[in-house]
Order: sequence, then structure tokens, then C-alpha cells
Amino acid sequence: MIQDTIAKAEKEARLTPDEIFELMSIKDKGELEELYAAARRVRDREFGKKIFTYGFVYFSTYCKNNCTFCYYRTSNTGIDRYRKSKEEIVQLSASLQDAGINLSDLTMGEDPQMYKDGYKNLLDIISAVHDEVGINIMASPGALPQEMFAKVRDAGADWYACYQETYNRGLFESLRLNQSYDDRRNQKIWAMEAGLLAEDGMMIGLGESVRDRAETIAEMSSLGCAQVRAMTFVPQVGTPMQDFTPYDSTEELKAIAIMRLLNQDKLIPCSLDVEGIAGLRTRINAGANLVTSIVPPSQHLAGVAQHELDIENGNRSVEHVFEMLEDMGHHHASSAEYRSFLNAHRPKRVA
Ligand code: SF4
Repeated sequence: MIQDTIAKAEKEARLTPDEIFELMSIKDKGELEELYAAARRVRDREFGKKIFTYGFVYFSTYCKNNCTFCYYRTSNTGIDRYRKSKEEIVQLSASLQDAGINLSDLTMGEDPQMYKDGYKNLLDIISAVHDEVGINIMASPGALPQEMFAKVRDAGADWYACYQETYNRGLFESLRLNQSYDDRRNQKIWAMEAGLLAEDGMMIGLGESVRDRAETIAEMSSLGCAQVRAMTFVPQVGTPMQDFTPYDSTEELKAIAIMRLLNQDKLIPCSLDVEGIAGLRTRINAGANLVTSIVPPSQHLAGVAQHELDIENGNRSVEHVFEMLEDMGHHHASSAEYRSFLNAHRPKRVA
């Protein structure tokens, strides 16, 4: 019975891949509601009504890679790309801090300019935001050599994010062309060994099966990351996957709810990058406890999955997100509340 599986997950925070598959296969509306309700109970028991908030600073959209699903893949020539200066990144992070956002997510493509001279530009940017602003930092710079993680931590990053997208090795290799599956999986482990909190993520709608989704959730939930996410693939113009039929958000909502049941005290994002502000309510109702991809308007900044959605109209701005959370009976977490989460979950440094 579906209800027994939900009850087991709520109580024990663990499921076999077959049981995750059973929940990922739910179609019945009533059963879906039971799944989401269980996820909300777990979230509210662990975190009360507070919701964490992250700002998104996508500071370089240059990338040497050619992932088939990505708008910023190197072969997508002729698109508008940018690289923000260190000063601009500091200023953007400061404005997020002033607005009460808990963290600045410093994201870039695998930009050779940032990687040259031993990753000097990347490390300088992280230290400048850490020293001059003091906001918590997530570094999302792509795959790094193992020895870099201690340096990223020493520069002042709290988190390292690197999404596997899928734990189906064959599918991974067909999406992330010329990139190593094992190296990308190891990124999260190396980050945690260096004392960084780590985030992993899956993408839904890239050609994977329901079984693949269940196995990906199982893998992500066992790796030890303090933040796990699911995002629905949005086909991108100018890429080999531009004509894929997009999914609605149902599979993502199921994944969020199941991840919540399995990762009860962890952070699970509701990303504004897929459906903009319209998608906030459903994802919070599925058990998410963190709003990511809040982007300040009028700064010529892009999102990842949807590079323009709701940014310049201000709908992804801080005030708008905070109002929506209040409206749903939640409140945004203070920086002290966020830091207490980090202190409780930060891995012990062994590298
Ligand atoms: S997904 Fe990341 S690594 Fe792949 S092409 Fe896009 S920016 Fe580059």
C-alpha cells in the first residue's frame, strides 16, 4: 500500500529504491496529496515555519563544456554572455545581505578565465565576498581538481554545489559530453572532506525512466549532502535538446516530497528558475524549505534553466518572495537561524 510506504518513510527516513520507485510512480491525486502532506509534516516538525532564502549571482555565463541540455554550452554561439567584475559581485552579494537573504550562490560556467593561474580569479571573488560582505557563500564553479576544495573552503565558501543530474551513468555520459561521471560524483565527497557543505541535484525530463529517478533519489540521499534538489528540465533554444517535450512540475514535486521524507533535517530547495514565482507555492507545499534563485532585477543577471523568466519584472526579487512566504503562513529565516543550521551540519574537515 502506498500509505504504508509513506508512513514508513515519515517514521524511519529511509526507503529501498523499490519503495522510492513505488512513490515516484504515484498518479492518483489523493495519494499525491497524502505524499505532500507527509512531507510538510516532516518539514514543519524539523524546521517549524521558517524558510531559508538564497540569492543567485550567476557571475560568468562563459563555459568550456558542451552539456547537451544547457543554454550556455560552448557550441551555442551568438548568444549574449557576460562576466561580472569582482566589484560587481561584491556589490550584488552586499545587496542580498542587506535585504535579509541568507546566502549568495556564486555560480559560473566552467569559464577558463576563472580557472587560469590556479583558479586565482575564482578564489579572489570568494574571498572578496567573504571579507567585504560577510554573507554566507555557496560556490558553484563546476568540477574542480580535488586539491582545490580546501582552498575554496579557506577562501570563505560554506558550500560547494555540483549537480549530478542523473545517477544513470549512460544517460549522464550522453548529457555531460566528455565529462567523467565518477569525477563529478566525487566532487561532493571531496568537498565534504574539506569541510564544505555540499549540494547535489537531479534534473527531471532529460530522457530518464521512473526507475532512474528513484535510483537517483536513493543515491543523492545516501551521499551525505546537506542540500539536495530536483529541477524540471526546460528545453533551451540553440541546443540539441531544444525540441524535447517539457514535463509539467508533477514529477519534480513528487521528488521534492520523497527527498524530504528521506532527508528530514536537510535543505531542499524550491527553485524559482523553472516556473518563476508561480512555482513557489506548489514546491513549498511539497516539502521544500528553501527558496533559491532569487535574482535582483535591473542588474543584467541571468538564471540557469530559464535565463530571463521573472527577473527583469522584479517577480524574483526579495520583497516579492518574502510576501509570498508570509501569505503561505511561513517566514523567511534570519541569518542567525541559518548559521545555526550550518553549524549543526557542517562536515568535519579531514582533508
Ligand atoms: S551545464 Fe554547466 S558545465 Fe554544462 S555547459 Fe552548462 S554551464 Fe557548462
